[in-house]
Amino acid sequence: DFAHGVALYLDEITVSFDGFKALNALSLAINVGELRCIIGPNGAGKTTMMDVITGKTRPDHGTASFGSNIDLLRLRENDIAQIGIGRKFQKPTVYEQLSVFENLELALKADRRVRASIFSRLTGTQLDRIAEILQLIHLLPEAQRTAGLLSHGQKQWLEIGMLLMQDPKLLLLDEPVAGMTDEETERTAELFLSLEGQHSLVVVEHDMKFVGELTQGWKKVTVLHEGSVLAEGTLADVQSNEKVVEVYLGR
Ligand code: ADP
Repeated sequence: DFAHGVALYLDEITVSFDGFKALNALSLAINVGELRCIIGPNGAGKTTMMDVITGKTRPDHGTASFGSNIDLLRLRENDIAQIGIGRKFQKPTVYEQLSVFENLELALKADRRVRASIFSRLTGTQLDRIAEILQLIHLLPEAQRTAGLLSHGQKQWLEIGMLLMQDPKLLLLDEPVAGMTDEETERTAELFLSLEGQHSLVVVEHDMKFVGELTQGWKKVTVLHEGSVLAEGTLADVQSNEKVVEVYLGR
């Protein structure tokens, strides 16, 4: 039930690798429609957290639920993608030989709920949806362009567009603006802010200017450190938090 309430709830998740706790009783709740930025130094456990949510890594302890009643820890990785959790890794992975449009078309047809053959014609509604996504990801003028010829930032947007074709409830984004120009970064912030409300977004990011734009000064930011939440609050709050400062300056 995604009408309201919590989209994602991690409760006391622990993941150990040979006795080392990559996640240590991590608890986190993301509301429906919320855009949450997660920051933290290297090794804090951000990737491991994403791996747990997507079923790639099984925790030793804890629970993870999606919506009010889906137990994520009972699902396999493939099933998790199908229930509406989309993950964007750092590197773009698009079909370089195909056009921007064809990439989105394939993403749509790959959605199990659509049950379309790759040879079937798109319906009017599906074409409208592709046009809408092209607009959102700033690639409408590039629709016929070969994806391999896009800039790094444009490829990232295309991949986000491909995830959006499957209308995910929750989007997980790992350093989405790494390697982008300032202008691309700004337009990415614009894109994410337009997705907020309709999707829940978890954004792992190092670029504090970008985090500032996404949170617009008052939204909640989570700081991970040594596998658990070190601080939570507005960006200004956490940046002036003594424990956070200490962790970032390195002891
Ligand atoms: P982050 O994404 O915040 O940089 P990670 O989740 O990648 O952090 O890693 C958290 C900690 O767990 C790191 O110390 C890392 O070395 C360790 N770790 C992650 N994956 C493995 C693994 N497969 N085997 C052993 N240690 C791992």
